[in-house]
Amino acid sequence: MQALTNRAKQVDRAPMSFMEKMYLPAIIKGMSITFSHIFKKKPTINYPEKTRPFSPVFRGMQILNRDAEGRENCTACGLCAVACPAEAITMEAAERQIGEENLYREEKYAAKYEINMLRCIFCGLCEEACPKDAIYLSETFTPADYQRKQFIYSKNDLLIPHPQENPEAYKKALGNRGNKTTVN
Ligand code: SF4
Ligand code: SF4
Repeated sequence: MQALTNRAKQVDRAPMSFMEKMYLPAIIKGMSITFSHIFKKKPTINYPEKTRPFSPVFRGMQILNRDAEGRENCTACGLCAVACPAEAITMEAAERQIGEENLYREEKYAAKYEINMLRCIFCGLCEEACPKDAIYLSETFTPADYQRKQFIYSKNDLLIPHPQENPEAYKKALGNRGNKTTVN
């Protein structure tokens, strides 16, 4: 067969020695490497039972925020969508009706709010652009999934639990953010 280049090298097929045929040196060498790791400090942890401390600048999954009374902060102004470099955010605005004052803080709210997590680069610009403290990047990982459509997060996926109806889950979603949730 004609060679494509002249860089081909003849493989050295020297016959194996008796010890090499026993594979003992190779096995002993391999086992010694394995045993040398037994007493070393493990670089891995038993996640999720144990978690590593987050960096102060860690940015995880987005959360749509509520105020202390449980009303949705988002007023569907669209600034987060404009700021998003990945064009990952879409929303539809609706007007608050009489009697819905306990649900939405502003007169306009997001009837539909979606983030395409396959596009999101967790830059945090949506959080910075928001004038209503309505969105923030939490300390929660985006869960893995097998289907692309599962990564289109709807408002229900993103909305923080109600602080009065489900205070435990609300506190967990806030994480170290704690008292940073403000009412503008
Ligand atoms: S974190 Fe960045 S990329 Fe992700 S939705 Fe917000 S602005 Fe877009
Ligand atoms: S999350 Fe903030 S920036 Fe985005 S639409 Fe709602 S209020 Fe506006």
